[in-house]
Amino acid sequence: MPKVLLLHTGGTLGMAGGRPSALRPSAFFRTLKARAPELFRLADIELELFSNLDSSEMQPELWSRMAAHLHRRLLDFDGAVVTHGTDTLAYTASALSFMLRGLPRPVVLTGSQRPLGEIRSDARLNLIDSVLSALNGPREVTLCFDSHLYRGNRTRKVKVAEYDAFESPNFPVLGTLGVDATFEPGLRPRGSFRVYERLDPRVFLLKVFPGLDPALPLALLPHVRGLVLEAYGAGNFPIDPSLGRSLRPLFTQARERGIPIVVVSQAYRNGVDLTLYEAGAAALEEGAIGGGDLTPSAAMVKLMQALAYHPSPEALRRFIQTPIAGELTVGRPPPPVEPRKRGRKSNPR
Ligand code: ASP
Repeated sequence: MPKVLLLHTGGTLGMAGGRPSALRPSAFFRTLKARAPELFRLADIELELFSNLDSSEMQPELWSRMAAHLHRRLLDFDGAVVTHGTDTLAYTASALSFMLRGLPRPVVLTGSQRPLGEIRSDARLNLIDSVLSALNGPREVTLCFDSHLYRGNRTRKVKVAEYDAFESPNFPVLGTLGVDATFEPGLRPRGSFRVYERLDPRVFLLKVFPGLDPALPLALLPHVRGLVLEAYGAGNFPIDPSLGRSLRPLFTQARERGIPIVVVSQAYRNGVDLTLYEAGAAALEEGAIGGGDLTPSAAMVKLMQALAYHPSPEALRRFIQTPIAGELTVGRPPPPVEPRKRGRKSNPR
């Protein structure tokens, strides 16, 4: 019988109704044995309680502990499943994918929109699919949800109250668990299995919006060590000094204070190209780092790790722009899903 480690961290999946009708963490393992006994026919499952938290309480220190724990235990199993709340699941998936390098076994994260104890819960199927993915899926950190397996660091939570809560907008699915379960090969393991658990969480995510005062962010953030800037579209933001809100001074100040800025896009699909518009070119002149098609959450976690391991500006830039777990598309981005309409310019340049 294959062996799977099931590490529970919390989330709706393991919750029960509380006062007056709020969900709160509950005795998950008892419910699991009662509601999903077939799981234990698929594999010899070792249950471990890591924490019992709503995932809004998940923090970088806990990612580090989780990664170290998985690093210690994973080789005793054929794969691992981590149950987790959906709210910060994309962050934790990114963190584990950057911390566990040369992963020798699949690590599958999952959660659910309704608690396991409820009649119409999606937890049972998500758990079964996750165990199957831990046994047959690619050896990387993935997220299994609503019959699909995604590369963890490419995911976004896209829905609050529907079962298909996750997508990986810039990367194809790694598995489909329909009538048949099919899996892609995924990442090829590189090097020996190691854990990089250090992070510097003194980062900030700043979204560009009309009206943003360029002097405000750094004045408000005296201790910040790195910024992820969610720019418009392909990496755009105000740059015209005559209109009073050019963000150029923000980039200049950040460079002078040694604060790296990683630019990602507010748009859901595709990524930034800082060579495309005047604003991006100015950002590059000021030393900003184009984050390509990194999701904002993957960029945040990667910047935390970069500051902890590669703080010098050039090394940090290289680290951010080199994929370590398939989180980033290098070279030409993949073609758009919908074919472009005939007659429309395909490239504004
Ligand atoms: N608030 C919950 C959590 O992230 C939501 C969920 O699990 O779906 O822990």
